Amino acid sequence: MDMFKPLDRQKDAQNPVITENIENVRCLIIGSGPAGYTAAIYASRANLNPVLYTGLQMGGQLTTTTEVDNYPGYPDGITGPQMMEDFKKQAERFGADIRFGIASSVDFSGKKHKVTFDDKKMIEADAVIIATGATAKYLGLESEIKYAGMGVSACATCDGFFFKGKDVAVVGGGDTAAEEATYLAGLCRKVYLIVRRDILRASKTMQDKVFKTKNIEILWEHQTVDLFGENGVEGATLIKKKGLSGEEIVKIKIDGFFLAIGHTPNSEVFKKFIETDQVGYIVTVPGTSKTNIAGVFAAGDVQDSHYRQAVTAAGSGCIAAIDAERYLSELK
Ligand code: FAD
Ligand code: NAP
Repeated sequence: MDMFKPLDRQKDAQNPVITENIENVRCLIIGSGPAGYTAAIYASRANLNPVLYTGLQMGGQLTTTTEVDNYPGYPDGITGPQMMEDFKKQAERFGADIRFGIASSVDFSGKKHKVTFDDKKMIEADAVIIATGATAKYLGLESEIKYAGMGVSACATCDGFFFKGKDVAVVGGGDTAAEEATYLAGLCRKVYLIVRRDILRASKTMQDKVFKTKNIEILWEHQTVDLFGENGVEGATLIKKKGLSGEEIVKIKIDGFFLAIGHTPNSEVFKKFIETDQVGYIVTVPGTSKTNIAGVFAAGDVQDSHYRQAVTAAGSGCIAAIDAERYLSELK
């Protein structure tokens, strides 16, 4: 049942009001990952005439991966880029106005929320949905780029399955590393946990889980300097006790190399106005997408330090669009 306006009438309603380089919109969405596109689908279907700016990475993080096997609705799996193309098409089908541009500054001090794109175009929006995602940290090795999608991953839940019965390594000593190592230990033959210090930063409970898991071997005071392999990762070169007495080069044979050294939420541009936690994740009212500023909502990885999955990002994009719709209906 189609309860919404046909597309051609929606387009008329979308004619933007442009004053010099300032444009007024009802609902602005920043980011084109699963959260942003899902918010756009819901916001267009609610006649909010959303304008979505894609940022530099059109389609978000999933465009950097090959197979996505855990998103419901794709029984045979799908490539990340194709899935995000499907999301985009679905948002466009309901009239979402999708544009390329990067939010370079914001002013959330007034009733109208101002966002400037590429330092030149200003949008004044009644409601803003921030869906700018988070970026996994890498060590900065050339071989991480060389083997991207060929054994190097920053997401065990996403890619662990491809290493079933094989040997892998996880880098990091925090809760994420402990969690990813334990998860992979359930799938893989052996998991090396490469820790740069002689202690773990992870919580006591997570540490206990790691210590109790028989097929996890912790390589204390090891740092990765290179990865090698013919058609993908076959091993890693490490330095043990770098710069200390007893320094030595260690080589391990692995098929997968998982980074778990933290993520950087893409929230920098909003921080002057929007409350974030210590790491930079946007703080939302639990169970909602509401930020500390009325009319500004956040969805997806930029506000989620825990789950960071496409399906959870999409779900929170839906929540944000519904929250925005309710906020706008009360503004009238
Ligand atoms: P993102 O996908 O990160 O998108 C953020 C968007 O914001 C981008 O479009 C970017 O261009 C835009 N943006 C950022 N800053 C700005 C700005 N200043 N102005 C305008 N736009 C901006 N999850 C799964 O569920 N299954 C998987 O198999 C899976 N595989 C993965 C494989 C890899 C290699 C990676 C890195 C992640 C994987 N994930 C997977 C995790 C999943 O990709 C993320 O959880 C999901 O993409 C988060 O969606 P998002 O919409 O919050 O943000
Ligand atoms: P984190 O706590 O910042 O830990 C990052 C880890 O990576 C640290 O052990 C750090 O080593 C290591 N590291 C950083 N840069 C490195 C490098 N260049 N080379 C080698 N190692 C490097 O990040 P996180 O583990 O992603 O956790 C982020 C937040 O989410 C934390 O607050 C965490 O508690 C929370 N979290 C909670 C859970 C849970 O409760 N289930 C699960 C996941 C995450 P050093 O220790 O030497 O600095």
